Amino acid sequence: MTGRVTLVGAGPGDPELLTIKALRALRRATVVLVDDLVAEGVLRYVRQSARVIPVGKRGGCASTPQAFIEKLMIAEARRGEQVVRLKGGDPFVFGRGGEERDALRAAGIEVEVVNGITAGIAAPAAIGVPVTDRRYTQGAALVTGHGSEHEPDWAALARSGLTLVIYMGVARVQPLVEALTGGGLPGHTPAAVISAAHTPEQRHALCTLATLAATIDAEQLASPAILVVGDVVQAAPRWADLPLRERRRG
Ligand code: SAH
Repeated sequence: MTGRVTLVGAGPGDPELLTIKALRALRRATVVLVDDLVAEGVLRYVRQSARVIPVGKRGGCASTPQAFIEKLMIAEARRGEQVVRLKGGDPFVFGRGGEERDALRAAGIEVEVVNGITAGIAAPAAIGVPVTDRRYTQGAALVTGHGSEHEPDWAALARSGLTLVIYMGVARVQPLVEALTGGGLPGHTPAAVISAAHTPEQRHALCTLATLAATIDAEQLASPAILVVGDVVQAAPRWADLPLRERRRG
């Protein structure tokens, strides 16, 4: 049998949020390369005989270099293995799925992509926030807060009226808040932080843009977490429980 690679989205954590296609790919796989954002429970569906290779960034070691991961997938597929590259959320949302697909194709390897439920939609939903609720907004922007040469245009986003769904933003929350308030987004704009959504460790906090950094600090909300900024946060059933003082702050 000729080998191939399937880039599979594992969803945000809860194995029940895997797609049937993802499940089938996992059951068929002979080699599985796993990112560290993938929840343990998902690996239950991998065959006992399959080789599972962690290629994540945590666990004390430096991240496995991207070029190495790509070479490994190519080598395994050429040996006839059914390779699954398992990623948290969706492979095409801040997951380097596009780059990997291109590298595999360039090497002549057959590649398929299986969508997963991305954290940016699943995490707000876990606390009752529909990211595009039309009572509050015309849409949502998925942006990285990681900071790089490709920094989003925060001032434009501040003016957009869109729900801002920020990935990888916890470590840089203060500069993000400053960029958004500097761009004109009011400090009293509702905000939420959802950490480890759809896992047993899920925790969240509701606050405002102005109190976002202090809230993350006080509640010790750690990565992986999604930040949501926008009026849709008011759709969270617990928003009404927040003291009025807090809702108005900023
Ligand atoms: N491809 C992934 C995103 C990878 S980038 C996806 O589609 O979801 C990594 C970032 O995703 C984290 O820094 C965090 O912002 C977010 N993330 C991933 N899993 C999460 C979870 N279970 N809860 C909250 N945020 C999560």
